[in-house]
Amino acid sequence: MRATVWSGRNTVQVENVPDPRIMNDRDAIVKISSTAICGSDLHLYDGYIPTMKRGDILGHEFMGEVVETGKGVTSPEVGDRVVVPFPIACGDCWSCQHELYSVCENSNPNSGIAEKMFGHSTAGIFGYSHITGGYAGGQAEYARVPYADVGPLKIEDDLTDEQVLFLSDIFPTGFFGADLCDITDGEVIAVFGAGPWASSPSPAR
Ligand SMILES: [Zn+2]
Ligand SMILES: [Zn+2]
Repeated sequence: MRATVWSGRNTVQVENVPDPRIMNDRDAIVKISSTAICGSDLHLYDGYIPTMKRGDILGHEFMGEVVETGKGVTSPEVGDRVVVPFPIACGDCWSCQHELYSVCENSNPNSGIAEKMFGHSTAGIFGYSHITGGYAGGQAEYARVPYADVGPLKIEDDLTDEQVLFLSDIFPTGFFGADLCDITDGEVIAVFGAGPWASSPSPAR
């Protein structure tokens, strides 16, 4: 398949890579219909996040159609259309049981490195360096989604990809930020942010 891979600082390109395959019973393979570039991807592109390796597949905001499931996945099913959230969550640990999916205790095999760097570890995250597990991302034709019975959100009506894709990260992340600010009706809010291209060293494209 074709995928967007990181090849070094300021170097990202589309390459041929092996197709993902089911590795665990709770995996699913998703055929990507839409994917987004996140402002957070700039930190990888700019070389600020250690533990990136040449050939790592980028992308943690994606959606598509389930084309294969492991034996342990009863839902979603093959043919379902899903949005995949960026944190990979097992559904079983203390954090997941308390709906703190972004700090799942089981999905990041490299949590020891993250604890050294950040003081605590995040969950595994798609396409976001080996500190967050080294999972292949979704800026690709297909992605392997671990614990597919937990994270993916089934889209069962006729909403377009553009209407639901941002549920993978940007929308809930922004909503959470707004929630933390206790914004109430009638208030005027200024939002500061560096979009995916805004802080690129290259001219606007
Ligand atoms: Zn993102
Ligand atoms: Zn968990």
